Amino acid sequence: MSATIASNLVAGERLTGGAGSVRHNINPATGQPISEAPLSNTDAAERAVQAARAAYPEWAATPVGDRVQPLFRYKQILEANVDELAKIIVAEHGKTTAEAIGSVRRGIDCIEFAAGAPALTMGRTLPQIAVSSSFCRTQDEGGVGIDSQIDRVPVGVCVGITPFNFPVMVPMWMWPMAVACGNTFVLKPSEKDPLSSIRATEMAHDAGIPKGVLNLVQGGPDVVNHLIKHPEVDAVSFVGSTRAGEYIYKTAAAHGKRVQCMCGAKNHSIIMPDANRGAAIDGVLGSAFGNSGQRCLAGSVVVCVGDSADWLIPGLVEAASAIKVDRGDAPGCGMGPMQDMEGKERVHEAIEKGVEQGATLVLDGRQHQMPSCGCFVGPTIFDHARPGMFIVDEEIFGPVLTIIRANDLEDAIEMVNKSRYGNMAVIFTDSGNAARKFKSTIGAGMLGINVGVPAPMAAFPFSGWKQSFYGDLHANGEDGVRFFTRSKVTVARWL
Ligand code: NAD
Repeated sequence: MSATIASNLVAGERLTGGAGSVRHNINPATGQPISEAPLSNTDAAERAVQAARAAYPEWAATPVGDRVQPLFRYKQILEANVDELAKIIVAEHGKTTAEAIGSVRRGIDCIEFAAGAPALTMGRTLPQIAVSSSFCRTQDEGGVGIDSQIDRVPVGVCVGITPFNFPVMVPMWMWPMAVACGNTFVLKPSEKDPLSSIRATEMAHDAGIPKGVLNLVQGGPDVVNHLIKHPEVDAVSFVGSTRAGEYIYKTAAAHGKRVQCMCGAKNHSIIMPDANRGAAIDGVLGSAFGNSGQRCLAGSVVVCVGDSADWLIPGLVEAASAIKVDRGDAPGCGMGPMQDMEGKERVHEAIEKGVEQGATLVLDGRQHQMPSCGCFVGPTIFDHARPGMFIVDEEIFGPVLTIIRANDLEDAIEMVNKSRYGNMAVIFTDSGNAARKFKSTIGAGMLGINVGVPAPMAAFPFSGWKQSFYGDLHANGEDGVRFFTRSKVTVARWL
């Protein structure tokens, strides 16, 4: 089977080739070649920035009501073609078909929200903020009224750098709102699964997003560096690992860009003894093993309070053992492979470290019944782990669930708050008092109460804290609107 060469889309033109190295990607379920992504074609990146800059003045001047019309059409196109996109996602990422369809639907939510830009980007006015008595009229004659007004205006050329784990959804956290606000955009998707975002971008052009307004350029760190240091780029939105995000935040900010970086995570689920057992087992299972654990909102550490471990662990082991691990489009598949061989090796290494450091391996995903080809690893569960161990502290980004134990809620909250990450935390409890204490003292930005994954919703900011986020304004919701607009304040008097 031959691999598809991942193209760039610059001002609507498909560009392939160019100098530099290439990443060879496989279908992670079969091990067969699927795509080749150019890594360092900075010429294409340069052309994409120039195309976005050239398209900017006319697009920024287009009435917002006209700018959002293609988004309404795009939503319809995506809904009609969700299966086509899901097939590409399954083939190059390995998700199950249901997960792939779900991820496109969450992307559509972002388009719907961005289509509300006429209301979302409205300014505010405070008339008669002061009275001036100079020049024409005296105070006695009423003076001259001074009005103050704030407008939200576009930022300019925006760049989006995205990870492999949601190749269609994550770009939609960025560009629909950016272009609805009047900016032009250059998307740099992950080099690990570049095909889905090419197809999704072509569909956006079919919907009428002008071609220079949305550009796509393939590449790795060389291309990212070209984009984030470029004098014609005004804002950079990044989603990916903490290591890359911290670097991109510092470098782009040092080059004068507005930056938001949504980064890595190690998320905790606290299980209280009074929790609804079925809901807790289901919630933890979905959170830890959904998308094969390759989610920034994977609840990969469970903190069992009191005797909750006595019923939680047997329930989890039984349910996880029954998950069908197979290619994502196989009937009844509950968990697909890791996205690439490096991912599979990373998980194997993490399991070895967990054993070496003394945690108890209660379910070994290496022994799960699953296809022998490709990048498969089954659900893995460790018990009796402790903070300080690799499997407790570090993001594995795979189907490894680690259980630690706490005496009481205070103890559990203290353990969670020691994490250097703060993307998400969850509690399962029947007690309003415990839930309230959790909500008010936990150091994370996305909280779940009896919900396994408090997933990002288009209307709310995705609020990671600590080393899960660098910047000020998050993606989505009101933060997204503010990130992709500048405020302009006018104070006026008419003499
Ligand atoms: P990654 O950081 O390896 O890659 C993300 C993007 O950054 C890619 O486009 C890549 O080309 C680029 N990149 C990577 N290293 C770079 C470098 N040294 N210099 C410049 N650019 C670089 O991340 P990934 O493996 O694709 O995705 C998994 C990570 O993303 C996990 O850590 C996960 O938690 C995180 N993630 C976070 C969120 C969130 O909202 N917080 C959402 C999804 C994924």
